[in-house]
Formats: sequence, C-alpha cells, structure tokens
Amino acid sequence: MSIQNNLLEIKSQLPEHVTLVAVSKTKPTTDIMEAYQAGHRVFGENKIQEMAEKYESMPKDIEWHMIGHVQRNKVKYMAAFVSLIHGVDNFKLLKEINKHALRYRRVINCLLQIKIAAEDSKFGMTANEATDILKSEAFSELKNIKIVGLMGMATFTDNENQIKQEFNQLKDTFENLKTIETLNCKLETISMGMSGDYKLAIDCGSTMIRVGSSIFGERNYV
Ligand SMILES: *Cc1c(COP(=O)(O)O)cnc(C)c1O
Repeated sequence: MSIQNNLLEIKSQLPEHVTLVAVSKTKPTTDIMEAYQAGHRVFGENKIQEMAEKYESMPKDIEWHMIGHVQRNKVKYMAAFVSLIHGVDNFKLLKEINKHALRYRRVINCLLQIKIAAEDSKFGMTANEATDILKSEAFSELKNIKIVGLMGMATFTDNENQIKQEFNQLKDTFENLKTIETLNCKLETISMGMSGDYKLAIDCGSTMIRVGSSIFGERNYV
C-alpha cells in the first residue's frame, strides 16, 4: 500500500468530527509531500527542530502540530508557526509559550496533556493539577495562549479493556473541565488514539487522532 492509499483509506472511515493528524516524525519530506498531494494538510512531529526544518522547506499551508514532550528552551524554534501544541504538562511551559507567542503577536493553541497511562514513562498532569491551572489568576493573564482541549496517551498494552478505561478517564476529565470557560480556555478537542488504538479512541469520544505508522509505515530510528 502507498502512503496515499493508506491515508485515504483511514480518512474514508473517520466520522466527520474527527481530525486526523498524520504523524510524520522521522519520515522524509518526500513522504510528507505524498500525503500533501493527496490533499492532507495536518501533520504531527515530536521533535521541535525536526519540525522547524520541515516547516522551512515545505508548503506554507501545512498545519504543524507538536505532539511530543516540549522542552521550554526550544519553544522559540516553533513559536512563529506551530498550529497546535499537544503536550503541555506544566504551567511554566505554558508561560514560556505565551511569552514567545506574544513576540510574534499571535495566539498559540495548546492542549493540556493528562496522564492516563499506568506507566511511569508517560508525561502528563492529573485532572486536579489541570483544574488548578485553569482556575488560577496567573493563567488568566496569559493572553497569547489558548487551551482548546486535552491530550492523552494510553498504556502500551494488548489489554483493550485497560486502554478503553484510560480513554474513558480522559473523556470524563474533558467533560468536567469543559465547564471552565474563560477568555483563554475553551475545551473542544480530545486528542487520543494512535495507529493501534484510534478506532477504540473514537468510540470513547476522541475528536483528534494521531496516526503515524499506519500511514507512513514503520519508523526506522537508526
Ligand atoms: C509517534 C506518536 C504517535 C503515532 O504513533 P503510531 O503508533 O505510529 O501511529 C502518536 N502520538 C504521539 C505522542 C507519538 O509520539
């Protein structure tokens, strides 16, 4: 199967309210162009510098999503162009994003990453930490960021019940936090689901899936 076929096959099965982020990390721009030529415009990367290099050399109507862990000192490399940052897991990072967004006189949309997996390795905050941030005075002063939803990653396991439970947990957290609506917070997006579990994620309420290997093939990290 070609990249274009994979992409169109997946897209044809998605409900209309679900956005597909094609995860192109480690893949060359020629692969991304194949998806682009099939009409796709939303791509996800997990390394800021790699994303910035691809942004420079590619068509400017691409929406670039940062889906990986974000280091504060690298925010400056994407602040001019990033369209959504999925993995915001602490307030200091949010402040840093706001600072750089202000320099470019733009508002950067962000998702709060909630820890739903049992594994220690997955980043994210608790629902309580998210609530505290969204209700804080300090948060209300950040006029150049907007929290538009939540992101989560399920445990890497074959146990479908566990994954489902974790997705349901994110959906519940979303419904609770949605009641907090401020100038810089309006929750509309639930980013959950990858190649192995996106159908389950959609059943559990996902509105944005991040799919890499099912579109571009297995990644080679050497
Ligand atoms: C790599 C990655 C994905 C895509 O993973 P696939 O299994 O290749 O679909 C999704 N989300 C995040 C945060 C990733 O790092």
